[in-house]
Amino acid sequence: MAIKIDYKKCCWKDGKCSSSSCGCGKACIGCVEACPVGALSRKSKVIVDAEKCIECGACVEACKHHAISLS
Ligand code: SF4
Ligand code: SF4
Repeated sequence: MAIKIDYKKCCWKDGKCSSSSCGCGKACIGCVEACPVGALSRKSKVIVDAEKCIECGACVEACKHHAISLS
């Protein structure tokens, strides 16, 4: 099992939110905040630290853009 991020669907591009449907419109409140072990971070794009990930699926549930999958 591994986390996969679909960067076409993810709103976080070039270090900022490109969506108008994420609440404040400036930051996607979702996967990063949902992760209980701090395995996700927003850099120029969202990255996952596979060594920290415990494959709980919380980020998959939290993503409003259905950009994360666990398979
Ligand atoms: S599956 Fe869980 S531990 Fe892994 S990145 Fe997503 S929220 Fe974090
Ligand atoms: S919650 Fe989804 S859309 Fe938002 S930053 Fe995370 S992967 Fe991208």
